[in-house]
Amino acid sequence: MTTPRHSTDPATLVVTAGRPPSQLGGAVNSPIVLSSTYHSDPGEALAPDHTWDYGRSGNPTWAAFEEAMSLLEGGPARVFASGLAAVAAAIGVLLERSAMPRPVILAPRGGYYGTLMQLRKAAQNNYLSLREVDLTDTEAVLAELQPGTILWLESPSNPLLEIADLPKLIAGARACGALSAVDNTFATPLGQQPLTLGADIVIHSATKFISGHSDVLLGVVISATSALDQEVADYRRNYGAIASPMDTFLALRGLRTLAIRLERAQGSATQLATLLESHPAVFRVRHPSLPSHPGHDLAASQLSGFGAILAIELADAAAAQQFIGQCQLWVSATSLGGVESMLERRRRHAGEPDLVPPGLVRMSVGIENVQDLWADLRQALG
Ligand SMILES: *Cc1c(COP(=O)(O)O)cnc(C)c1O
Repeated sequence: MTTPRHSTDPATLVVTAGRPPSQLGGAVNSPIVLSSTYHSDPGEALAPDHTWDYGRSGNPTWAAFEEAMSLLEGGPARVFASGLAAVAAAIGVLLERSAMPRPVILAPRGGYYGTLMQLRKAAQNNYLSLREVDLTDTEAVLAELQPGTILWLESPSNPLLEIADLPKLIAGARACGALSAVDNTFATPLGQQPLTLGADIVIHSATKFISGHSDVLLGVVISATSALDQEVADYRRNYGAIASPMDTFLALRGLRTLAIRLERAQGSATQLATLLESHPAVFRVRHPSLPSHPGHDLAASQLSGFGAILAIELADAAAAQQFIGQCQLWVSATSLGGVESMLERRRRHAGEPDLVPPGLVRMSVGIENVQDLWADLRQALG
């Protein structure tokens, strides 16, 4: 895999990265390699450039996508079968790295509930000690850091859109010998690159913006060092939560348009946030673009855009359900980051943190005409 290094701008990289070497008559796209195994040397010698042996260890289609993610985030990348498989691998590797008998993990109390479920289960089983913290309280989080502590960060967070001070928290973790990981699903590597701030690991649910078309589940782990990356690769090979080459091809295909999709979607999200904020039926709008958002200044300083997810609060669960039922263009479904605008009352999931208000509707803004999106919301709000 050779990517032309003529530009490091992410809007160009999403198009150019992970292509086969350019040669006359050669394919422009990396092929989907469907093979569980690869010919090996009967003499058992591993050639110096020996890359592929068995499909659980590696696949050329993975390598193309991983190269693209690696150039975008700034560290070696490994693809996984889902975002949560990537979370599990990152936690597994960080637990080993922590070198503490029962490492302390600090995680966002209002963060993605799938991650919290994993961590709570691991805490119940005594693999770790979990502290659910308020990531917006920078000083309080810094005060809890000790050597070997693992700091799990999510900013903007799902679904509360909280903004954590990533530069300060990551630097604080590094300074005291703690480890830090960032779930960068909402921001995408186009919004922020936590490895450049000193984070040890970045994870993505590539199911969301990276793939962008609501047709695959996939995850990615990107590491700060090749030693850590090797542990991630070993974890994947040993536990086997591997991605399908077909899905990985689709993710790379989706990634090609990430820059324009995101630009369009976050522009629309910003417009809709302002319109919704002045609607009488809406109690509160959470979107980092709004000056009323407590993390607005921080978001403006650390993100290149305010993102395409927003959340609104209606009077109660019933009002939220009725609103969603009235929408015609917006799709009522869980998930986010696709070309189609989607919305969901988050508390319909039993595992969602109590911190999330019952009337909160998470909205993932797609790439449709923004006037159409607003017209649908306005009629649904009644
Ligand atoms: C969806 C999501 C995940 C989990 O990803 P899956 O691909 O659904 O397994 C993790 N973190 C965040 C922030 C998410 O939105």
